[in-house]
Amino acid sequence: MNPSIAQRLNGLNPRQQEAVRYIDGPCLVLAGAGSGKTSVITTKIAYLVQECGMSARKIAAVTFTNKAAREMKERVGLMLRGKEGHGLTVSTFHTLGLNIIRGELKTLGYKPGFSLFDPEDAKALLRDLMNKDAQVDAEQINAVQSQISQWKNDLVLPGDALSFAADDNEHFAARVYEAYVRHLKAYNAVDFDDLILLPVVLLQRDPEALARWQRKIHYMLVDEYQDTNVSQYLLVKLLMAERATFTVVGDDDQSIYAWRGARPENLITLGDDFPRLKVIKLEQNYRSTGTILRSANTLIANNPHVYEKTLWSEMGDGAPIRVIVNRHEEAEAERVASEMFTRRIKERAEWRDFAVLYRGNFQARLLELKLQHYQIPYKLSGGKSFFSRNEVKDTMAYLRLLINPADDNAFLRIVNVPRREIGPGTLEKLANYATERSNSLFAACHEIGLEQQLPTRAVERLGRFTHFIDGVRKRMDQGDAIAAIRDMLRDMDYEAWLYQNASAPTVAERRMANVWMLIDQLEKSLNRDPEDDTSSTETETDGVEAAISRLVLRDILEQQAEEDDSDRVQLLTMHASKGLEFPHVYLMGLEEDLLPHRNAIEVGTVEEERRLAYVGITRARRTLTLTLARQRKAYGELLDCTPSRFLDELPDEDLEWEGRADKEDPEKKQARGKDAIAGLRSLLG
Ligand code: ATP
Ligand code: MG
Repeated sequence: MNPSIAQRLNGLNPRQQEAVRYIDGPCLVLAGAGSGKTSVITTKIAYLVQECGMSARKIAAVTFTNKAAREMKERVGLMLRGKEGHGLTVSTFHTLGLNIIRGELKTLGYKPGFSLFDPEDAKALLRDLMNKDAQVDAEQINAVQSQISQWKNDLVLPGDALSFAADDNEHFAARVYEAYVRHLKAYNAVDFDDLILLPVVLLQRDPEALARWQRKIHYMLVDEYQDTNVSQYLLVKLLMAERATFTVVGDDDQSIYAWRGARPENLITLGDDFPRLKVIKLEQNYRSTGTILRSANTLIANNPHVYEKTLWSEMGDGAPIRVIVNRHEEAEAERVASEMFTRRIKERAEWRDFAVLYRGNFQARLLELKLQHYQIPYKLSGGKSFFSRNEVKDTMAYLRLLINPADDNAFLRIVNVPRREIGPGTLEKLANYATERSNSLFAACHEIGLEQQLPTRAVERLGRFTHFIDGVRKRMDQGDAIAAIRDMLRDMDYEAWLYQNASAPTVAERRMANVWMLIDQLEKSLNRDPEDDTSSTETETDGVEAAISRLVLRDILEQQAEEDDSDRVQLLTMHASKGLEFPHVYLMGLEEDLLPHRNAIEVGTVEEERRLAYVGITRARRTLTLTLARQRKAYGELLDCTPSRFLDELPDEDLEWEGRADKEDPEKKQARGKDAIAGLRSLLG
């Protein structure tokens, strides 16, 4: 056996080894948090390549978040040497879908240079479509958008949605859905959910395409399988139908995306669809102390279970779990920040050893202020998206129009940015003219007939704009696309436009820096190792298009600009923390209506909230601190809070309360006071 893989296997327990070595049929690893499921996947990739001689090109490993995919890639990268890993796919489900779409553009009836609409673009299109009949408000648009997304995740196409609509509302949504799909196609665009839906529909209908992809992917590995939705499961099933060679790993207790269409039942369906399925359970946890694990087990025992699993650990009990009750939310944030400040020195920890998890992003705001006050570096996941900034959206619209002139959304966004004196009246006439001829706005600008509809001056202005864009497109096709894009931004003096519109010169400066950062990222994405890319034979424009799609997708998936592994405290929602681990974890806001969330209590989905708390608790390796506030501002008023029911469900003997009058043991309090003094003394040397 290859010595390096033998060594890796030796580091695993017998059950894990069994899961890695089993390659003859479908395999499901079902196990609790921290039991080494992801480790099985990464080792198995190395095993397939180094021991079974499978080409890395034929292996696809998928997971849900970019962060998780990146971590997995890193772990695999440490095991595979040199060319061994070339062509390996380790990605999110959506990136795999994007690659399939790019490989099958023609079969799918798309033109090269398609646009990927982010949820905001999609919303803008829906707003247009819905406003045609009557004025609708934001709430209605959101409702239809999530209904459409649900249909797509459940693989319900517009025709079926129309025939099965249960009431007027659904019927209306189904009609919008039908128009939405038609318009997306006309724009040569796809949305986020299409990245899974389109490949599935294609593979179902087209045996040749199916055969092509089955030849390409021989082995699939899926992490966090409990969170797959119907379409994602079908994608795996279709690709693996013939060979049935795959490994999926999951934990039904960590299913936290039901609200986005995830179907934990997929765990059971798998057994029905693949009767030869081998199920392996792992029970040893290598992540957390005994106390943390006991709490997690006790909490989740309150949920009904399909598969029983008990986790144990050899790590020893470790410190008790602290529960800190604070006067109000500000005191809670202050406490967390000030504690990390002292603990870092006292416990010789690094900033990156700490993570603060919470239910909703809004909880991070106060904490951020406190962290800034203590000058603690932090990284906020899921903050304001880089791509939702106006200057970045403008630039992206230019890029989209350059690669896909049929993208009317992009055209409308920038035809007058910077100002070109092309008014709404002109655009309306142009739109009518284009619709009559089933043409895109950009194409319509080139038509001679337009002169009869519009004043000469307006036609000239439109002509200047399209001529300008055509020039850039030509240069991109001829050679250095990135240089052409940089020159375009300079030629139209986008910077001057930013200065005109900013409240202060520093603001404009920062905005322009964002634009250049976007182009730099695009360049990086374009020049990445072509071996990594499934379509390395593409032309320059195709390459730019692919690079742009990758950037947009990355943003949708993680809503953050840069990858960053510097030493910072991590602030994350519990949802975003899945699969990750940290030595010290703070879980904030353990109050009724927050965790479990008010909506969940109202609609009776507390079990999913309990799983969410389970995910949060099991991220901690050495210490876990739970905090809550007695009062919190919500809906504009100061409300009294009730401690979360989940606190009552944790084993009382493992908790150390602070600030709760009836539980506070005076002796303990005194002892803690002494501890604190001793701690401070040692701190001061
Ligand atoms: P989650 O459910 O949270 O995604 P997981 O089951 O995927 O967890 P991993 O992240 O693979 O668990 O592993 C948890 C930790 O245990 C990691 O730090 C990993 O390196 C370590 N680990 C896994 N297997 C072993 C083993 N056999 N011996 C020692 N450490 C291990
Ligand atoms: Mg994992």
